[in-house]
Amino acid sequence: MILGLLKEHGKENRVALLPEIVKTFTDMKVEVLVEKGAGENAFTPDGDYEAAGAKIGSRADVFKKSDVLLQIQPPADEDIQKIQKSQVWISAFNPLWDTDLVKTFLKDGVTTFSLDLIPRTTRAQAMDILSSMATVSGYLAVLEAASKLPTFFPMFMTAAGTIRPANVLILGAGVAGLQAIATSRKLGAQVQVFDVRSAVKEEVKSLGGKFVEVEGATEDKAAGGYAVEQTEEYKQKQQQAINDIAAKSNVVICTAQIPGKKAPLLLPAEAVERMKPGSVIIDLAASTGGNCELTKNDETVVNNGVSIIGQSNYPSQMPMDASKMFGKNVLNFMKLMITEEGALNLNFEDDIVKGTCITHSGEIYNERVKSLFENK
Ligand code: NAD
Repeated sequence: MILGLLKEHGKENRVALLPEIVKTFTDMKVEVLVEKGAGENAFTPDGDYEAAGAKIGSRADVFKKSDVLLQIQPPADEDIQKIQKSQVWISAFNPLWDTDLVKTFLKDGVTTFSLDLIPRTTRAQAMDILSSMATVSGYLAVLEAASKLPTFFPMFMTAAGTIRPANVLILGAGVAGLQAIATSRKLGAQVQVFDVRSAVKEEVKSLGGKFVEVEGATEDKAAGGYAVEQTEEYKQKQQQAINDIAAKSNVVICTAQIPGKKAPLLLPAEAVERMKPGSVIIDLAASTGGNCELTKNDETVVNNGVSIIGQSNYPSQMPMDASKMFGKNVLNFMKLMITEEGALNLNFEDDIVKGTCITHSGEIYNERVKSLFENK
């Protein structure tokens, strides 16, 4: 089979495969066709792909000749019509959020796999692009906050006096939040953390963060480890606690998300008003509405001296390692659908293959996407 690697569109700097992974695919008897310049924003020239055994072609070539098309970002509008029914499209389509795209795939009868649907199981861990990219985001969020803050992160005792460590508040202790705790602690800050899932308490503590408890959270084992929406009473108690801690924090890192839903609002405008001028809020949930009321996606808003940075694609800012991790996840996933002869075999008996498939032959395969359509 021919695996086509597309160049990303828009502001994306990553590429879905680096040459080291292309080499593994070619060793598996898969032909790899790379769009000219696909890796240039990740500092990877076409020659490196050729040395790894790939062929270089135009965008039109890749669309025409590939059995499987691969890219990170969902397609640009003009690309959607280019896919043929016989082809398989692998990307991070975000189908729980963008249901119109799912409708188009259904209508066109194309086969699509969305890597953001990889089940959160132990077997699938090595394929989990959400975890890989959240690791990058949590790390870079803290570095950006530290570089924008007018004060130090660590405590210093110098001849010129004592510097107090920065206070960091982290909202949401999923993969990004846990990485943000670890990075903030390495830089010497004091860290407090909120999450509705009590299961993360021990992890937060082991990384050196203080878990702030608000009693009465709703947890649902059926949600597969994800958070669910909370009661009004809980939200009010949580709000009071967050507002009080935010007022004393120099940095707030927002990471709380609920799959397929608008991000929970955890930092209202009045909480931002109480923060000290010079403080920094980084909102990683910006693309789904943000945890902070004042967040604007892909923008920095300054309110009363507090910078609110709405950034939902930090991985694009660290394209080499982010691409390396993404490509390794793709390889581990695609191993489930490649035969010893290098042919494509869509084995829907495999729960990971089935669970990651959005559409095939005019049907929805992923159960969570299916239930979105059934409940409409
Ligand atoms: P996420 O991006 O969906 O959300 C980030 C965090 O925000 C979560 O910890 C969530 O509980 C929290 N949150 C949501 N609403 C909140 C609210 N109102 N107030 C405070 N916090 C709130 O999370 P994620 O990083 O994708 O992780 C989700 C789950 O998946 C976790 O249980 C994680 O351990 C698990 N996971 C499993 C695997 C695996 O087994 N392969 C891999 C990665 C993550």
